[in-house]
Amino acid sequence: MGEPIHVPLLDLGAQNQPLDAELKAAFARLLESSQFILGPEVTRFEERAAECFGVRHAIGVSSGTDALLLSLMTLGIGPGDEVLCPSFTFFATAGAIARTGATPVFVDSLDADFCIDPADAERRMTGNTKAIIPVHLFGQAADMDGVQRLAKAHGLAVLEDAAQSMGATHGGQQVGMMGGLGAFSFFPSKNLGGFGDGGMITTDDDALAKRVRILRVHGGAPKYYHKAIGGNFRMDPLHAALLGVKLDHFPGYLAKRRANAAQYLERLAQCAHVAEGRLVLPSEVNGRGHTWNQFTLRVANGRRDDLQAHLAANDIGSAIYYPVPLHRQECFAHLPSFGESLPVCEKMAGEVLSIPVYPEMSEAQLGHVADTLVNAPL
Ligand SMILES: *Cc1c(COP(=O)(O)O)cnc(C)c1O
Repeated sequence: MGEPIHVPLLDLGAQNQPLDAELKAAFARLLESSQFILGPEVTRFEERAAECFGVRHAIGVSSGTDALLLSLMTLGIGPGDEVLCPSFTFFATAGAIARTGATPVFVDSLDADFCIDPADAERRMTGNTKAIIPVHLFGQAADMDGVQRLAKAHGLAVLEDAAQSMGATHGGQQVGMMGGLGAFSFFPSKNLGGFGDGGMITTDDDALAKRVRILRVHGGAPKYYHKAIGGNFRMDPLHAALLGVKLDHFPGYLAKRRANAAQYLERLAQCAHVAEGRLVLPSEVNGRGHTWNQFTLRVANGRRDDLQAHLAANDIGSAIYYPVPLHRQECFAHLPSFGESLPVCEKMAGEVLSIPVYPEMSEAQLGHVADTLVNAPL
């Protein structure tokens, strides 16, 4: 046997180290400029991002969470309104809805893609439903045909939570560019990982973009004259300058994630755990370009936590995204959905385990994870 192999869940150093000189140059440029709030660095990043994703407007903001909140504020969502969202997602999706004073209405997910079930969403519509937030979870687009059909039929606004799925496609279209507004995150673990908190809102609608930009800076238009209440949702120019360096490498990161996922699928498809149903592999739905922000297994025999311990014993990082669906969170105990059953997402919460799939994994590291899974005592 060779040296023990360590595989962290994510290795930011391995991604950023090769860019060391370029990142330091960007930092020096920013320091020299003394332009620390908005300005040309943010504008240039926004223009390049818009071009890169083929959208009219890309607007840099302070985080993915703020991208969601600012989008909902831009849509005029507030008290008395209901917003459909999946229960099986990161907390920010529903937290942003609740912070506007509106009510999150939790929807079950689909086994096939971990994302919102449009048929279940339709069952939960009321006269107060104003918007729907499909979350493109783990790097793959949600069923946007179903979401768009529902939205068109009932006049709902669509806000795509694309925080985990920058670069993913649906029927050849980029996610975040299919509804009214798209929300992205540059949290370090996302597909385009930044250097602190940051996010982006995308839209093809000029009027919405204008409103986003006004509310991003307290809602004053012109400055100090307020018809609306916004906030401080600005992206830092330092962050824009550093992210600009990584934007050039983004297609390469995605290609590596896809290659890693393809290797896992190939190596694991034939193993007994999969053949006999103890392990369920994630899959790319036809017509959707998966970006594999997470490679999420399902452990179907109740032994998920044992598998996680077995991976840890072999020096392999893993994580449970997410252990508690949002309709079961204490902060939402006052909502009728707290007592309801959303069977698919409850089952997922008990079965999911995400394993390393980051772009910089070596052959040896990927092989070690695959072998450890194949030989796991399940
Ligand atoms: C990361 C994430 C967010 C929030 O992004 P931040 O930049 O961390 O605020 C929102 N929704 C989903 C689905 C996420 O994964």
